[in-house]
Formats: sequence, structure tokens, C-alpha cells
Amino acid sequence: MIFREIGKTGKKASIIGHGCEHLDRKPYEQVKSTIDAALDHGINIFDMFMPGQEVREFLSKALGVRRKDILIQGHICSTDIKQQYDISRDMPTVKRFFEEHLRLCGGHIDFGMLFFIDSEDDYKNVFETEIADYALKLKENGDISHIGFSSHNPVTAIKAINTGLPEIMMFSLNPAFDIIPTGESIFTHLDNNFNAVNFAGVEPTRAELYRLCEQKNVGITVMKALGAGKLISPEHSPFKKPLTVAQCIHYALSRPAVVSVLPGCQTPEEINDVVKYLELSDAERDFTEVLSSVRGGFHGSCVYCKHCQPCPAEIDIATVNKYLDIANLDTTNVPASIRSHYQSLKHKGAECTKCGSCEKRCPFGVPIIENMDKAEKLLG
Ligand code: SF4
Ligand code: SF4
Repeated sequence: MIFREIGKTGKKASIIGHGCEHLDRKPYEQVKSTIDAALDHGINIFDMFMPGQEVREFLSKALGVRRKDILIQGHICSTDIKQQYDISRDMPTVKRFFEEHLRLCGGHIDFGMLFFIDSEDDYKNVFETEIADYALKLKENGDISHIGFSSHNPVTAIKAINTGLPEIMMFSLNPAFDIIPTGESIFTHLDNNFNAVNFAGVEPTRAELYRLCEQKNVGITVMKALGAGKLISPEHSPFKKPLTVAQCIHYALSRPAVVSVLPGCQTPEEINDVVKYLELSDAERDFTEVLSSVRGGFHGSCVYCKHCQPCPAEIDIATVNKYLDIANLDTTNVPASIRSHYQSLKHKGAECTKCGSCEKRCPFGVPIIENMDKAEKLLG
């Protein structure tokens, strides 16, 4: 394993980390074998944003005494109301969930991440309220070592970094999110050694954010490096051909300030696959050829992150979107299995009340209401 310094924290993270989100609602044996595989490969940074009690308990048990060997990103404001993942800015609720997480992590969390700073409201409701004071207090008391935050929006992320409070940022980063779809080759701006400083193809605000992090010595940990698997899928890749897992990891690790990429593996085999990156040659990691032609952007495309939840009609929006995406590959020949999966959902697109709360939360501008309608028409 290779390790990088995390900004000015004095800590070092493995360049491949582990995002635990896909271990949510999985049996304990699967959680345990996946965590063991990660630890055995030397992975030492784990993101645990999930607020569910069961998955938190499973992770705590699976780590056991090896908890002391790793760094944990725990999220302040990630909550679980009525078994639906939620974001809360209500102080007693925020405290309740974070303090329970602290308990399950052995009384200490390395990085207290202010959760989901995407909109101006998110920024104001966290950085200008008692929630930021709470994070400072946690740090003062030694409950957390460092304050961080997570975001998908470079504009609010820049504001957050400029407060001087965060020492680490978790950000959604991959070539599809980064690229300007001008229709021209971006590679006249990219030298052969992937020198990120000279890479002029990244959307300017995002490029500014990465540079700002480097300038202020704030480490970046990466989520969505594979774009929820879309970048490695021949059907869904926005490029002429799919990237490999190693190319996605390499792209992220080539951005300024990036310390670690945290793919959301859910089995030991997936962990084994991602760490193969470490053994590959530069030529095998090279992503330039794939990126030479952009087929379309990611805006409006679901990456199944579930940030749109909770839905008052209790629709599992990401799952409905996933079935719809598969059905859309050939609407005249929808696989029976997909139709049957959709029909066995407890709550379907037809139950959407068009309240719009999900669309406000979606970081990727997905037309969710329209999708619920389309899913029902195609699969209902
Ligand atoms: S609709 Fe948006 S928020 Fe919901 S899962 Fe898809 S990308 Fe994520
Ligand atoms: S608009 Fe529909 S899918 Fe979205 S939260 Fe409201 S009911 Fe749920």
C-alpha cells in the first residue's frame, strides 16, 4: 500500500480507502469479510457516513481491536429517521446520531465530517450555526481529531474551505464530473505526465477548488470516483469507451490535494480488484485515450447515491431510477426480471406525490418526478 499525508493533519492515509456505504443492510458475515480484506491490504481510511444503527454496529464489531489501526470519517448531520437515510440540521438529533457513532467507534472519531455541504442553505445552516461550534467542541474535547466536510458542489465547497475550519474534504470527483464538454480534445492542455497543474480541461470552479485545497493544505478524499459504476460501463460511460477501475482511481489521484480514493466495495473480491491498481504499470493506468472524446455530461443522470431520500411516499428513488436506466437501454425489450423487480418494490413511482423535496436534495439535477412517472409507465 502507498500512503499520502492528509494535508496538515499529520496523519497518513492509504491512497485507496474504503467507502462503507454499500455494506449498509448487508449480513454481518459479508461486512466482516469485506472489512477484513480491506485491512489485510493495508487500507487504513474508512468513510462511515451511514446513520443506520445495524450497519454501524456491524462495522464496529467487524473492526474489533483493529479499530486502533485505522482512520474513520464519521459524519455530523447524517441521521436515520424511520429507517430512511436523512440529513438533519436539528442540534439534538445531530448530537444523538453522532454521539452514538462515537460510542461505536470506541469513543473517538478521527475526522468529524460536516455532512453534505451542497447548497447555500447547507453552508449557512452548518457553518454559521451551533453545528460548527459543536464540531469545534468535539475537537477541543478530543472526541474527534480533525474537522472535515463532504460536498458535491465546488462553489459551496470553496466557501467552506475559506472559513479555515476544515482540514479534510470528501468530494465527488471523476473525469465525467470534471470535464468541460466543449467537443474539442482537452489533451492539448494535458502533458504526458498528467501534470494536474497544467491540466486545463477541468471545469474552472472545480479546478479552483482542488488548487485551493492544495494551497491551504486541506486533503481531499474522493467519493464517486467510478461515477456509481457508470464510467466503467460500456452502456453508461459518457466517453467513447469505458474507463477501467484503475484509470478512474488514477485520474482522481492525479488531481491536486487528493489523498485517497474511497470506492464503495461490498465484497472481498471487489476490494481485491481495486487494490490491483497498486500493481499496474503507468500505461495500464493511463486514462488519456478514453477521455479524448466526451459523449455527454453527467448532469441529469442518477448515480444512485440516495442523497434524495427521504421520500414522504417512501419510494426508494435510487432503485427506481436504476431499474428505469436499465429499461431505457431498450424500451421495446425490457427484461422481464427488471419489470418483476420493479413490481415487487413496496412503493412504486405511481405513489409519487410530486412534492419535489427529492429534486431539491439531488446534487446531480436528476428529473426525479419525471423519472417516477416514466418508470411507472415502462415498468408498472
Ligand atoms: S436521484 Fe439524485 S440524489 Fe437520488 S440517487 Fe439519483 S443522483 Fe442521487
Ligand atoms: S417528488 Fe415524489 S419521489 Fe420525490 S420525494 Fe416527493 S413523493 Fe418522493
